[in-house]
Parts: sequence; structure tokens; C-alpha cells
Amino acid sequence: VIVLFHDRFVDRKECLIDIEDRANQFGDGVYEVIRVYDGEFFLFDDHLKRLEYSLNEAKIKYDINHQQLKELLLELLKKNEVNNGGIYIQISRGIAARSHPFPKESKPTVIAYPIPTSRPLDKQENGIQATLYQDIRWHRCDIKSLNLLGNVMAKQHALDIGASEAIFYRDYNHVTEGSSTNVFIVNDGVIQTHPANNFILNGITRLYIKYLAKQLDLPFNEKVFTVAELKEADEVFISSTTSEVIPVTQIDETVIGNGKPGPIAKQLLNAFFEHHKIQQLT
Ligand code: PLP
Repeated sequence: VIVLFHDRFVDRKECLIDIEDRANQFGDGVYEVIRVYDGEFFLFDDHLKRLEYSLNEAKIKYDINHQQLKELLLELLKKNEVNNGGIYIQISRGIAARSHPFPKESKPTVIAYPIPTSRPLDKQENGIQATLYQDIRWHRCDIKSLNLLGNVMAKQHALDIGASEAIFYRDYNHVTEGSSTNVFIVNDGVIQTHPANNFILNGITRLYIKYLAKQLDLPFNEKVFTVAELKEADEVFISSTTSEVIPVTQIDETVIGNGKPGPIAKQLLNAFFEHHKIQQLT
């Protein structure tokens, strides 16, 4: 694997990350995952905008040169012969002796490399089982931060009990999002999802679904819903860069709808590629 290390291309073995990179001790950094279809980035500018948002909110001083980064990442695709897949980009606050305060002088560490990704066709076709999990994460889930321990624990719990995704709920049984996905319910044709605030990551796929809903004349409601509403919904589905849209047909013991992927999730999946030449959402 060839890695982009700052603005250089190096072999994975030569990408030497310092032991005191703040990503290691503190998870002090942010990241993005961008999907590549047929050699082209999908919604590249929206991902870069969110990366800038995360950097800003985390107060990591790093000016992204969009054009230059895009060219480097396209070169990275070429060097790794990626035509369909994904790219992972990580920016940490940099290297400094371990101490909590932001270092006075540190240069953010930038790395990017391809991650193998293929469309989860079986899950999209047949739906998945999910499990509920208390949202044990912090209150700044809007930042795409490297601190993913809560997400990792939730996902492993889901797999351990034979489910594919964990769906988080917070106080008052409010459903927030999945361990690595956004969550949607459908009732009488109305799509509903948690508002984009500090309790969820505002998924780029979530925004794309909002756009598709508009194209398809499907009402889209950004409003909190409860665990009870989740279980009683006509349809449930999740979304992410790598999942696209995946129907959820069972949550713990509760079968959703008739236990089969619902029509709205199918409609969105069908529309996914019809509209995917769109350049920018935000
Ligand atoms: N929510 C969380 C916690 C995530 O980790 C992710 C993506 O990995 C998403 C939502 C979906 O975001 P996107 O559609 O931008 O991939």
C-alpha cells in the first residue's frame, strides 16, 4: 500500500508515525472516509467541508488547500490502482511531549491511504439485524474525531450477539445514530431522522438521502424519535459512505414492518446511482 504522508507518497513500511503523535495518546485528530466509484470521488467537496468543520471545532490549525489535496488524493488512487473503494484521511494535531494542553508549536500530521470497500449488496437486498445500545459517547458527536472507543464497543457488542449494527439511544430513549451510520425511520411515507446537532455526525450520505428525498418528493423530517417509535416504524434503514443505504429488518427481538426491506429504502437505493453525478450538497 502506498500512503500519502503529508505531501509525499511513501510505502506503508516507510510511513513512520512518531510515538508522541497526539493521535496515539489522545485520539487528538479528525478523519474522513470518501467513497470512490469508477475512479471518481463521490461528494468530495462535502467531505472536505466536513473535514474543515471538524478541524475548526477541534481547534486544530490546518489550512486545507482543496485543489492540491484533491490532486494528491487522485494520485494516491492511481498509485494504489483503486477504481472502486474508499480513501481514509486523518489529520492529527501533531507531535509533542505527552501533555494535555494543545502544544504551542506542532505541525498537524496528515496521512491518507486506500481502504478496500465494496458495496454490501447482500445486506442491501435482504436487510440486517440491529441491536440497541446506550449512547455512551461524549456530546460532540458532530466532530468526526479519532476517539471512537464508544463506537467500537457498540459495534463489537452488536457482532457478539449476531447483529450487524448497534443503534444508540440517549436520555429519554431518544435514538441518535448507529455506531458508524445514521438511522432513519419511515411512517406513512415520511422519512424521519435525528436533527443534525451535537448528538450525531451529520453524515454526507444522510445529506445525500435528504437530497434524494427531495428529488423523489418524499417528505423528510429532521426530528428526534424514541426507541418505541423506532420499533413501531413501518421501515428502518441506516446510511453511511460505505453502507450507502441498508434496510434494518429486525431490532433485538422486534421485527420491523413485515420483516422485509421496505419500499422507501428500496426506492432510495435505486435512486442512489441515478443521481450520484451530483457535484456538491453543502
Ligand atoms: N455516524 C457515525 C458515528 C459514523 O461513524 C458515520 C460514518 O462513518 C456516519 C454516521 C455516516 O457518515 P457518512 O455518511 O458521512 O459516511
